[in-house]
Amino acid sequence: MTTPYTIQGKTGTWEIVLGLEIHAQVTSNAKLFSGSDATFGADPNTQVSFVDAAFPGMLPVINEKCIEQAVRTGFGLNAEINHFSIFDRKNYFYADLPQGYQISQYKQPIVGEGAVTIDLSDGTTRTIGIERLHLEQDAGKSLHDQHPTKSFVDLNRSGVALMEIVSKPDMRTPEEAGAYVKKIRAIVRTLGTCDGNMEEGSLRCDVNVSVRRTSNDPFGTRCEIKNVNSVRFVMQAIEYEARRQIEVIEEGGVIRQETRLFDSAKGVTRSMRDKEDAHDYRYFPDPDLLPLVLDTAWVENIKASLPELPDAKKNRFKNDYGLNEFEANLLSEEKENATFYEAVLNGKRNPKLVASWVVGELFASLNKNGQSIENSPIGADALGELIDLIEDNTLSGRLAKEVFAAMLETGKAAAVIVDEQGLRQVTDTGAIETAIAQVLEENPDKVAEYRSGKDKLFGFFVGQVMKLTGGKANPALVNEVLKNKLG
Ligand code: ADP
Ligand code: MG
Repeated sequence: MTTPYTIQGKTGTWEIVLGLEIHAQVTSNAKLFSGSDATFGADPNTQVSFVDAAFPGMLPVINEKCIEQAVRTGFGLNAEINHFSIFDRKNYFYADLPQGYQISQYKQPIVGEGAVTIDLSDGTTRTIGIERLHLEQDAGKSLHDQHPTKSFVDLNRSGVALMEIVSKPDMRTPEEAGAYVKKIRAIVRTLGTCDGNMEEGSLRCDVNVSVRRTSNDPFGTRCEIKNVNSVRFVMQAIEYEARRQIEVIEEGGVIRQETRLFDSAKGVTRSMRDKEDAHDYRYFPDPDLLPLVLDTAWVENIKASLPELPDAKKNRFKNDYGLNEFEANLLSEEKENATFYEAVLNGKRNPKLVASWVVGELFASLNKNGQSIENSPIGADALGELIDLIEDNTLSGRLAKEVFAAMLETGKAAAVIVDEQGLRQVTDTGAIETAIAQVLEENPDKVAEYRSGKDKLFGFFVGQVMKLTGGKANPALVNEVLKNKLG
């Protein structure tokens, strides 16, 4: 066990308790209860049916695809699938909610308890409990920046299906919360149930934060920070909010349960409204919808069709390819990384060598240029060809880096660059022997010193030979021949 993460206050140390609610927009052509298009980014109010606009007498019709996606996600969260669930009305008034209620699930959600494993930077993992996953409708969007005195409402989002994934209050550090969001995102993206795009808001996070003195104390009162839209902001918001709560308590105040907003420009959280309790919403089963009953064979079919999930992939990369924790994590957490890595491997190349090139040279250059792996300037085949030239001894590791840089610059194939620039490493023993002979001849005093026991000079001779061959001599061969000649 590592030392528990604590925050130092004026009167002692404190522990943070965190639980996250993630709203993930379901990948589906149509909305949860209507046939309108659910694609993001269309002109305002162009994807609105009478149901979405809540015209009187319109009835919701459930979209089977959304149910399937929720069940898939449930399996991805190692959770219990409830074959019987209920849709409820959550009643509140707001301009972007034309029905006056949101159809959600309350007491009987479609997915029950589960668990996910999160990966921490020190190479350890932790299990975080999942409380539930339920389906609900999204509301419309209020537009406040279109007119100086008026607000407008865009109903395109009204009725789009969301999965709300509720964690248990199992996280204790900002890093754990960040790792949890990343893992949930990786799972839904791998499953194809949500595109995980936090910037566009298709995955957003409500972060519940409380503090207490020690892990033996009961939980403190929580505040809920709404709609945090990046992993970095989740972590920053927690840092700030935990310190704020500690200060309030240490100065003799009490934490009020409330809903807060994170101002990412200032790095602070601000009170938005007092937190409603569930009874304020007057939940009741929606009389327009029958209970949802899932067919066992249908559920089993979904289970049988699941793709390889991120944890399984990570373990396979470790076991089958011999990757270390760091490489396996980096290459499995985004499905695009895994796809690229395995495309370079192509079932035949050396997995460790390929991993070190993808995680090392390639990721470094993508990061530096702000590029993503999908539009990597060096494709999987091109990188594979470069690696072949290392494996067949045409290139040393050092020369390969030069070729890699030239590939980035020119977009040419590795073999072409090797030919054009004469970067082929010298593996011809004769040529290496000639170079070595010359170096030894030019440095008789050093040779004598070496022979009388000054072993450290070996590196000097290697350096001289490399210099003479323009860095192209095969280092292993140079070592071998030099050892022979120096006796
Ligand atoms: P609500 O909709 O009222 O926010 P939910 O049950 O949907 O309630 O979500 C509650 C969330 O808050 C869960 O993720 C839970 O783990 C978390 N939570 C509950 N109690 C605490 C606490 N004392 N400190 C931090 N998080 C908490
Ligand atoms: Mg909530």
